[in-house]
Amino acid sequence: GLLENNLLKSFSMDKDRANNVAKIKVVVRKRPLNKKEIAKKEEDIITIEPNSNSLTVHERKLKVDLTEYLEKHEFLFDAVLNEDVSNDEVYSETVQPLVPLIFQRTKATCFAYGQTGSGKTYTMQPLPLKATQDILRLMYCTYHNQGFKLLVSFFEIYGGKVFDLLNDRKKLCMREDGKQQVCIVGLQEYRVSDVETIKELIEKGNATRSTGTTGANEESSRSHAILQLAIKRSADGSETKPARLVGKLSFIDLAGSERGADTTDNDKQTRMEGAEINKSLLALKECIRALDNDQGHIPFRGSKLTEVLRDSFVGDSRTVMISCISPSSGSCEHTLNTLRYADRVKSLSKGNSSKKD
Ligand code: ADP
Repeated sequence: GLLENNLLKSFSMDKDRANNVAKIKVVVRKRPLNKKEIAKKEEDIITIEPNSNSLTVHERKLKVDLTEYLEKHEFLFDAVLNEDVSNDEVYSETVQPLVPLIFQRTKATCFAYGQTGSGKTYTMQPLPLKATQDILRLMYCTYHNQGFKLLVSFFEIYGGKVFDLLNDRKKLCMREDGKQQVCIVGLQEYRVSDVETIKELIEKGNATRSTGTTGANEESSRSHAILQLAIKRSADGSETKPARLVGKLSFIDLAGSERGADTTDNDKQTRMEGAEINKSLLALKECIRALDNDQGHIPFRGSKLTEVLRDSFVGDSRTVMISCISPSSGSCEHTLNTLRYADRVKSLSKGNSSKKD
């Protein structure tokens, strides 16, 4: 009837919108200098031209005669956000355009990449809440009574193992079904019908995440935290029939990128974790590259992280990467590494394959 027609109309409007949302988007966010950096008289070495998508790093270097000079490194991304950009603006630049698509079978993923302390958590934490507000609005207003449900899960990958953050950090196993889908066995999913519920669940998950043995920051900088919002619906939209996945939005706060370099540490545990992180960050880059080149084969098996994300990379998928950087001279090397990583993803998304790793 009329309802069905309206639904079809909004579906086709969404289809157009879907085609206009880039498959891969790379955004860089610069945080302000913090008190510690200011106290140490560190300089801001990042300049961003207003209203541009380019960013320059001014690296202080020494010549052989020990005189100093500045080396400039210029980068171009889809968007470059300076230190006075708010979290609301980050949301509208990155995740908001993806929200309508997940009612259209799209799987969308938003990553935060960067060294520990660069602002990944600060950037990622508000995003699922804001997305939930928009999802619920769409569900109740646009898709009124069409039987869509919103479910949330929250887990972390630590040392190559999966832990449920909404179930006392229970260790979980992964299983591949016949259709090449990977599922996490026993992962708790909670139905969300209001913003208050998701707020509580996110807080609960975050609290669970930081109760490690080695102290909050240490632990969380070595794990990938993954929050997923899934839209489900039964074949006829009724509550009684089993609901199937329609689309999904995943938020990933990656391990500190510098942790991937912990492969020569004296501590064996740290070395193993470093190797795992290194592997997962490399595998992630390879998967995004393969996706962008529409390669049939996507190297999911490269790491636990990419295996878990496998179903987000098949079919109609969208990826946003937010690279977080510190502005300070003391972080120059890490910042350049982060920007180079982001640049690989971006350069390839322009079909530029002349650059090597
Ligand atoms: P990470 O998750 O990358 O380790 P955090 O998100 O914990 O880093 O950020 C480190 C510190 O910097 C936190 O105290 C956070 O509040 C602050 N911070 C990060 N980004 C910003 C920003 N854009 N504006 C203001 N403060 C920020």
